[in-house]
Amino acid sequence: MKYAFVNQAKSEPFPKGRGICSNCDAELIAKCGRVKIWHWAHKGKPPCDPWWETETQWHRDWKNNFPADWQEVSHIDPLSGEKHIADLKNPFGLVVEFQHSPIKPEEMASREAFYENMV
Ligand SMILES: [Zn+2]
Repeated sequence: MKYAFVNQAKSEPFPKGRGICSNCDAELIAKCGRVKIWHWAHKGKPPCDPWWETETQWHRDWKNNFPADWQEVSHIDPLSGEKHIADLKNPFGLVVEFQHSPIKPEEMASREAFYENMV
């Protein structure tokens, strides 16, 4: 992920950084290496969002066209409690998901059903 909460502020990864996940409140560790894009990872466990994929520069470039407050917003289904992190969610409730790799139609349908107002 691009963002974690560090001292209540939405923060990008920095070397030796520690933060909190906006989706599950778990501890995140900043991964600031040379190969993968700098990101936050859940400490010692898989990501809390099974829909989350490793990000590429392509993803980041798209997200960076929008305000930081709109990026990586946790979205909760009030009935089921299911949570996922939207690539973008604007203040009007529109979710935008950037998808560069192939995805099955059923998978796309389940994301559209979850977010409802999604492109
Ligand atoms: Zn999490």
